[in-house]
Amino acid sequence: TAPRQPDYLSRLNPEQRAAVETVDGPLLVLAGAGTGKTRVLTTRFAHILMTRRAYPNQVLAVTFTNKAAREMRERVAGILGQPAEGLWLGTFHALCARMLRRHAEYVGLSSNFSILDTDDQMRLLKQVMEAAGIDMKRWPPQGMMALIQRWKDRGLTPARVTPAEDSDYANNRARAIYAAYQERLKALNACDFGDLLLHMTEILRTQEAVLAQYHRMFRYILVDEYQDTNLVQYLWLRLLAQRPDPAERNICCVGDDDQSIYSWRGAEIENILRFEKDFPGATIVRLEANYRSTAPILAAASGLIAKNSGRLGKTLRPGRNDAKGEKVRVVSLWDSEEEARMVGSRIEAARRGGHNLSEVAILVRAGFQTRAFEERMITLGVPYRVIGGLKFYERAEIRDAMAYLRVLNQPADDLAFERIVNTPKRGLGDTSLRAMHELARSEGKPLIVAAWRLIETGALRPKPRQALRELLEGFARWREMLPREGHVVVAGTLLDESGYTDMWKQDKSPEAPGRLENLKELLRALGEFESLAGFLEHVALVMENDENAEGERVSLMTLHAAKGLEFDTVFLPGWEEGLFPHQRALDEGGEKGLEEERRLAYVGITRARRHCIISHAANRRIYANWTSAIPSRFLDELPPDQVEVEGGAGAARARMMSQPSAFPDQFPLVARKPRVIEAGAWEVAERPARAAAIPVGTRVFHNKFGYGRVVAADENKLDVEFEKAGRKRVLDTFVEKA
Ligand code: ATP
Ligand code: MG
Repeated sequence: TAPRQPDYLSRLNPEQRAAVETVDGPLLVLAGAGTGKTRVLTTRFAHILMTRRAYPNQVLAVTFTNKAAREMRERVAGILGQPAEGLWLGTFHALCARMLRRHAEYVGLSSNFSILDTDDQMRLLKQVMEAAGIDMKRWPPQGMMALIQRWKDRGLTPARVTPAEDSDYANNRARAIYAAYQERLKALNACDFGDLLLHMTEILRTQEAVLAQYHRMFRYILVDEYQDTNLVQYLWLRLLAQRPDPAERNICCVGDDDQSIYSWRGAEIENILRFEKDFPGATIVRLEANYRSTAPILAAASGLIAKNSGRLGKTLRPGRNDAKGEKVRVVSLWDSEEEARMVGSRIEAARRGGHNLSEVAILVRAGFQTRAFEERMITLGVPYRVIGGLKFYERAEIRDAMAYLRVLNQPADDLAFERIVNTPKRGLGDTSLRAMHELARSEGKPLIVAAWRLIETGALRPKPRQALRELLEGFARWREMLPREGHVVVAGTLLDESGYTDMWKQDKSPEAPGRLENLKELLRALGEFESLAGFLEHVALVMENDENAEGERVSLMTLHAAKGLEFDTVFLPGWEEGLFPHQRALDEGGEKGLEEERRLAYVGITRARRHCIISHAANRRIYANWTSAIPSRFLDELPPDQVEVEGGAGAARARMMSQPSAFPDQFPLVARKPRVIEAGAWEVAERPARAAAIPVGTRVFHNKFGYGRVVAADENKLDVEFEKAGRKRVLDTFVEKA
């Protein structure tokens, strides 16, 4: 009789098994979402160890995130039946950092080198540029930093930057600045993030003995999410994989060209084609059965991605036998608040129905979108976590902006003043700040008063003195504007005039545009409140609400952060032109940018196992105004027979309504029509319509403040005694009868 097959192999289909058992020689698994690429890689890892082909420390395994590395470690341990120790398993950066500690001397560092964060990098680069006499007004250092990062992504040390690769930045001095920056880093025994790969690749390129050592050591190389590697990562992999004996080049990469979504960070899809060239005779395995999603979800995703050109071409078919399932839902809503309510009420219904909240995810295109959903979760008491990023009100730019608003509201708020007095940089050194603190303490006055005093005493150098004066005069002016202009306009003015917005506009890091969007979103949130004080109080309550309880939680994250993950239920909100596809991607990337956005949509849909709910709002608030939004073109590209449209005529309705003339500016909340969605496991009725007037004594529910009872009412305002938040005056359109 045939020998019994190990359990872990019996959980694979024949193609997957072939990919696992073809352990020797180069192998490329090219397959669509949910076909088990990661499962193959993990099983292959375990298989190599189980069949004693290598010791645990002789396998190099690369994952895209630290979280994925943890998961793979656990799964390998699960198959082995014991904890897996001493593995070379992690992200490119983590692996390179570990290697570089052993060979730092080859690039002029010692093994205890430090890794700089982005702030330190920037400071260093500015010093270098200043020393070189570069006019930084004309040539912002952020541009130079971006250039350096691009070079590093492509494996170019200063010596390898050829004239053809050079840039005319700062009158052809970019390469010289780059070289000087690298020298400074070396002098400080430090490197930046990009250096980890750059240095290691350079060492492997130039130090034969080191390379030979790794060739002996790493018998097997495994790479997940291969489609998103950049050039330097590819070079590093190729160096390590090209062992002297071609028969021993055991590298296995798994990827999906349709899920390449990081070109903005230098990822190159061409690496898939390079692989076949650099490893001739490589085995190519294609997996076609998708085990993750139901048939309609799969068909919807496939139909959408078929609109892209230049694909490598793959087939995807349902691999689950229970794969019938419900169609992808497309829900049209009035505005983003209604969208957040829709998502919230469905999640609540699911929770009541016993669904595990850890199996629910909300995937957004842009970070700022999490705010509306976070607030909804808080109101409903649904625990959530933000994966791959911070909660909205914890983000640095939001904390900064909030500090500005707090000083505006209450000049004696020392903590807030301290945070912003030198953000953006106003040239106040430690000595000046200490002097300010001492003055405040000795006179028992708030910092802001001490700051005025400091200006008057002439203790500051002219430049910081002028900058501080402008800030303090600014606050006086903005406060004075408040009653006239209203808190939203003043907040916007303040952020602009204080130089805060500019600080991020100057920043050329890939995160900067997202931070600016977050700031806009903050102003939108502010617009939902009648006063600055009311808003600040609200945020304080939101922040307090944040318990660290373990347990089931809804996951919120960007589509980029969702790669490789899966959930029973996936919400995909904000499918509107300009937001998704994102305007920036279209402006900067043209047709290519659009295709990358479409891949992002494909990634989003294919995260769902059973329920996929796409939504879009017909209106978005910008500042205090409303603009109408056009449904995303991706909605039209979904195969109609896989989709169930909810909310009247759905996209068509929203499109019709999105004629600007159809909306008076103040439109949205008041005129909302009640809408009942047919009952079913996943549908719930919306709250009933609010009656015209809410009499005194009525128990009500308010989006922000929760439950309370009306104690007084006039034309359109109510005084409500809230159970948690105390007595508040609120617009009646913001409450519903409870
Ligand atoms: P992505 O492209 O999104 O990263 P993937 O190709 O890496 O997807 P996996 O995450 O490995 O796919 O697998 C998707 C799901 O299908 C997982 O839940 C996995 O456990 C399951 N799965 C994979 N192969 C099989 C199989 N042969 N039988 C049953 N379930 C499977
Ligand atoms: Mg995967």
